Amino acid sequence: MKRKSIHLLILGVLFSFVACAQKTDLEKTQATVNQQTIKDHIYYIASDEMRGRNTGSPEILKAAEYLAGQLESYGAKQVPGADGWFQPVPLRMKTLATSASLSFGGKDFAMNTDFLIVDGESGDFDGQVVYLEYGLAGEYEGKDIEGKIVFAKAGDGETSDRRGILTLSRDKRVLAKEAGAKALVEFYSSPSTTWASLTRAFNRVGISLDESGDTGAIMPHLWLKDLDNANQRFMMTKSIKQANISIEGMTNALTGDKNVLAMVEGTDPELKDEFIMFSAHYDHIGVGAPNAEGDSIYNGTRDNAIGTVTVLSAAENIAKYPLKRSALFVLYTAEEKGLLGSRYMANNPIIPNEEIVFCWNSDNGGYNDTTISTIIGLERTTAAQHIKDANVAFGLTAIDDPAGEQGLFDRSDNVNFARKGIPAPTYSLGFRAFDAEIGKYYHQQADNPDNVDYDYLEKFFKSYVYASRLIGNDSVTPFWVEGDKYYETGKKLYGRE
Ligand SMILES: [Zn+2]
Repeated sequence: MKRKSIHLLILGVLFSFVACAQKTDLEKTQATVNQQTIKDHIYYIASDEMRGRNTGSPEILKAAEYLAGQLESYGAKQVPGADGWFQPVPLRMKTLATSASLSFGGKDFAMNTDFLIVDGESGDFDGQVVYLEYGLAGEYEGKDIEGKIVFAKAGDGETSDRRGILTLSRDKRVLAKEAGAKALVEFYSSPSTTWASLTRAFNRVGISLDESGDTGAIMPHLWLKDLDNANQRFMMTKSIKQANISIEGMTNALTGDKNVLAMVEGTDPELKDEFIMFSAHYDHIGVGAPNAEGDSIYNGTRDNAIGTVTVLSAAENIAKYPLKRSALFVLYTAEEKGLLGSRYMANNPIIPNEEIVFCWNSDNGGYNDTTISTIIGLERTTAAQHIKDANVAFGLTAIDDPAGEQGLFDRSDNVNFARKGIPAPTYSLGFRAFDAEIGKYYHQQADNPDNVDYDYLEKFFKSYVYASRLIGNDSVTPFWVEGDKYYETGKKLYGRE
């Protein structure tokens, strides 16, 4: 009897030893994700002291230091080629011109009424006129542009929406500058957006990405109102040779913004060459006018202290229990200014994009259902089942984007990597519609850390981390579902046949 119980005891000890040495991914998830830790991080990142973590503010730099300190404390490593824990992002903050003029052929145009300054700096810019049709690639061939002012029509003759025209416009600016132009003026004739709303949109202190690495000379770029094409006809029929631009009071300065990044090497000799990227933006929109309660700070708890902390939770867990694949943790600046931090990283990768097999992004507007998590692009990658299973394990159901009309997949940092071909869904708090409940907090002063449900967050965080483990340890590499918009781009990126 006695002997038997000793045997049983030894067996029991052995058993628990083995169980401990071989914890399952579920047990490893439960071992590190803790509600109080989550809460402490969120309360700090979304505190009033952080003043809404606006791009270009001193507070966002403080947030960056905090995040780097956490990653280091978990035992994650710096990424070779990075600047310590950071990737500096060359963001340029520009102020508005106090006055400006444009004239050609004896006609004078007035700032805001007739033309808008898309970009530029103070100075006088007089030069010979070169007229191109749209100013697109190919139109510059064989032309002498050096020191001249390029005039062209806005858009490309097909694109009619404002965002599309703006994207084209940005590319045209790069082309004109590369060709040596002194300035670029686009004849804007699209009826899709009113001139008044464009004036409002452009007359903000702006943040833009300076990818030229050159802030010494900022080429003026104007949009000239020309709804009836009269100015364009005037320039052509009169064969205008000379134009004059003058800008006053406009300044440009680089901010100190940076992406924060760290890594944990994988344990499998083969799979460790593949990286899973865990990402979220940590910036928000700063301070504005006070609301009815006198609150002027946009704390950005849901958007996106929560996403930032999901990445911290994954880092803490994976640093303690590394995955077979390598893990890259990235926290972006300037998402709210147009996905700029992630765009810079996607175009200037430190770990080559083709080594990143999955981007597990985390971004949030808010929630209206605490029984689910909402994954933007859930069914678009082969990791869907792992994500669903991970949610079920913690009593949640994973659902795909219910608000297709919002175009959310294309409105967060994930899209910059999707465009490169990297499978990149975004993990979000549970919502079934972009309704009034979401609107109460989304980009509002009320998005505070004291009005979120931390019991729900604990489940939400555990599901994210557990899904991370399942994806990172699966012998099969995740990919786009066949037929997806980015499937072919992905095949090219990874050389898949
Ligand atoms: Zn966000």
